[in-house]
Amino acid sequence: MPDAKQHATNIARALRERGYQAYFAGGCVRDTILAREPADYDVATDATPRQVMQIFPRTFAVGAQFGVVLVPDDRASDAPDRPGEGRKGAVEVATFRSDVGYSDGRHPDEVRFTASPKEDVQRRDFTINGMLLDPLAANSTTDGILDFVGGCDDLKAGIVRAIGDPSRRFAEDKLRMLRGVRFAARFGYQIEPATFSAIQQLARQIHQVSQERVREELTKMLTEGRARQAFMLLDESGLLREVLPEISAMKGVEQPPQFHPEGDVFVHTLLLLEKLPAGCSKTLAWGALLHDVGKPATFRVAPDRIRFDGHVEVGVKMAAEICRRLRFSNDETDQILALVDNHMRFADVHRMKESTLKRFLRLPAFDEHVELHRIDCLSSNGQLDSYDYVRAQMQAIPPEEIHPQPLLTGDDLIEAGYEPGPRFKEILGAVEDAQLEGRISTREEAMEYVLREFPA
Ligand code: ATP
Ligand code: MG
Repeated sequence: MPDAKQHATNIARALRERGYQAYFAGGCVRDTILAREPADYDVATDATPRQVMQIFPRTFAVGAQFGVVLVPDDRASDAPDRPGEGRKGAVEVATFRSDVGYSDGRHPDEVRFTASPKEDVQRRDFTINGMLLDPLAANSTTDGILDFVGGCDDLKAGIVRAIGDPSRRFAEDKLRMLRGVRFAARFGYQIEPATFSAIQQLARQIHQVSQERVREELTKMLTEGRARQAFMLLDESGLLREVLPEISAMKGVEQPPQFHPEGDVFVHTLLLLEKLPAGCSKTLAWGALLHDVGKPATFRVAPDRIRFDGHVEVGVKMAAEICRRLRFSNDETDQILALVDNHMRFADVHRMKESTLKRFLRLPAFDEHVELHRIDCLSSNGQLDSYDYVRAQMQAIPPEEIHPQPLLTGDDLIEAGYEPGPRFKEILGAVEDAQLEGRISTREEAMEYVLREFPA
């Protein structure tokens, strides 16, 4: 049994031994029935948070106001906790409850604890996420399931259905609309018609959800291996034009057929998303989504063909605005913008000066640039000659030639009598170019070069 499951089972057993009810709940039950490895285990119980905290020696009252207590697995002390990733191996123990209110469209105004598991599942979002499982039953996946909401049938039929009245449930918490799309895409399920039409009606209210939560949902959709399905559903549901109008604007933007036999900019972008594997890097996924974001605004029918002059520069500005809006970290933003900014440069690699090529190859996380280029090509004309050339160069040029030790520093220039200033950057850049091109290789040659090319 995996550690996390064992830990969750032990927690349920400890609660039962003290006379409380205890079940696995939500996504981990769904995944167990589907024979998928759950991302995390949640335990639901009628013990109150205070009682839970008394039973287990070490706990964290992460959401005590919602009745959620985190119980860490003390045997899994290997990796340090990273912010935002939860505690490794920790199980969330949630007291059975009803959520009341939701006047802000994202949080309940009040929670009421209850002793009834049947009441608890009514607050959960979708029937497939609304089942409980008794991990201590003889054969827990056959006779241990508690299903008050028809989740088993929907799981078998492949249906994402809101629990209760869909309009009310989405009005309570707008984030559920994105979650519904995400689960449908992830499992290849249909969204039940009344559930889907409620999303279409309420999509414009998605803005009540914080931008961070929207970003996290979209990132999951992009990196779970079914990004194309997710973005098609976002589009059909009306959510796409709310959360990413810049991607919605790609629809119907025609491209020159000789370079893009596949169709318009949206079709092309979806083809890239289709090629993002489960577990791919976030920045690569967002870079793929945004690489052509500047095309709709720069579309022009020139005498010879359709052109998108300046789409890279415009795209970088738009991507910067999107990253700011969705509150990406500076590091993530930098990499996403670098992917957009450099994606057309692969067309020039055969013509690049050696120094330019080496500087290109040493862009941070260059493998993401290469992969974006590969899926970009495979989503249009399929020409991989630049890709093959870059891969061959990466193999052929040793790392110390791509990143050589600098021959000179600013201090050397000062010593030689140069005044510190903006010119230093230019001089040292030129020295490095000469070095990357093999024209100089020693300190002395570098100094001679400076004195010749940049007389003091
Ligand atoms: P994942 O596999 O992505 O973790 P999950 O179904 O486990 O999916 P979690 O976010 O881990 O989702 O939440 C666990 C459970 O809590 C869900 O299965 C669902 O029962 C309930 N839940 C989570 N978020 C909501 C919500 N916004 N509204 C109602 N119920 C929710
Ligand atoms: Mg989960």
